[in-house]
Amino acid sequence: MTNQPFRSATIDLAAIRNNVGVVKKLVGETEVMAVVKANGYGHGAVEVARAALEAGATWLGVADVDEALALRSAGLQAPILAWLHDPTASFDAAVRNGIDVGVSSVAQLEAVAVAADALNRAGRVHIKVDTGLGRNGAEPSAWRAVFERAAELQGEGRLEVVGLFSHLSNANDDEDRAQLQQFDEAVDLAASVGVVPPIIHLAATAATFRLPETRLSMVRLGIGMYGLSPFDDVTSAELGLIPAMRLEGRVIAVKRVPADSAVSYGYTYRTAGASTLALVGLGYADGIPRLGSNRAPVLINGQRYRVSGRIAMDQFVADVHDGEVAVGDQVVLFGDPAAGHPAVEEWAEAAETINYEVVTRIGQRFKRRYTS
Ligand SMILES: *Cc1c(COP(=O)(O)O)cnc(C)c1O
Repeated sequence: MTNQPFRSATIDLAAIRNNVGVVKKLVGETEVMAVVKANGYGHGAVEVARAALEAGATWLGVADVDEALALRSAGLQAPILAWLHDPTASFDAAVRNGIDVGVSSVAQLEAVAVAADALNRAGRVHIKVDTGLGRNGAEPSAWRAVFERAAELQGEGRLEVVGLFSHLSNANDDEDRAQLQQFDEAVDLAASVGVVPPIIHLAATAATFRLPETRLSMVRLGIGMYGLSPFDDVTSAELGLIPAMRLEGRVIAVKRVPADSAVSYGYTYRTAGASTLALVGLGYADGIPRLGSNRAPVLINGQRYRVSGRIAMDQFVADVHDGEVAVGDQVVLFGDPAAGHPAVEEWAEAAETINYEVVTRIGQRFKRRYTS
């Protein structure tokens, strides 16, 4: 018997530190923000944040203020930026806890100033401009009004404009360069009305690696920190990155069946000959994508097999043919290809999605264990 849990996500914090170190070396003096939104892309926000800061990241980034507050509650003191807000949000808790707020409009600037007034201090903001992605961020026609109001509020001591930022579309290098040019115009316009924030930031992982001119004062490192490549034509190993998550289940039943035995809902799989079926206690409730049915790989006792039949809510089957498989054996869904494990990208391809989505959706029933 082992103490291995039924559903296990092992997170290698040494890999996180390695990956931050690789990017630090690449960007030199530029600061690194560790992006730990969505529970650290499924890896655990607090643990990843600590490892990233140990390795030289100086900022933390999350989507919303609640995620930022969770990091503060865990005792993390580093500057934290949150950039996506409920339309009716009050920023009291953000200001009280020293969280930097990404703002995309005059209304959000005012809301942070109001929260700051109540606490008699300056609220910290990063102004976000839309340079072509078409998501949040002030649109170019609103830039002047946003910058002018920010200058006033800063002059009154109610706000401190710490940063100016935007986000790239990664459509292609030329489109990203066009966005950089737009961004430069925003920086110049802000300066012309007296807003000169100390931190100007644009690049996430992809541009950090591919477009050095976008690194500016800080890069926002997400997927690369987790050891995964943002590119479909470059592997993580080629970037010097180590995948941090190993996802495992266990064989919970084994049965020998005759030829032409059907497997799982809808009978989408039948055994070719007499065969051994291994039941794995993981399903789509755990974030295992159902599109991986009959496609995605698993590794059991060093042998690769394929998911056989439909992935159900809590379980799936792998036909292991005449392989030696016993109840209790470890089943690796993905991990570090350098250790012989299937790559998360194989699951992503099977599920017609990207590595980001596969790791981020890994569910709460998984026990996350940390190694360093
Ligand atoms: C998620 C996110 C990032 C990190 O992107 P990666 O591609 O994972 O590096 C950076 N900036 C913003 C605004 C984001 O939303």
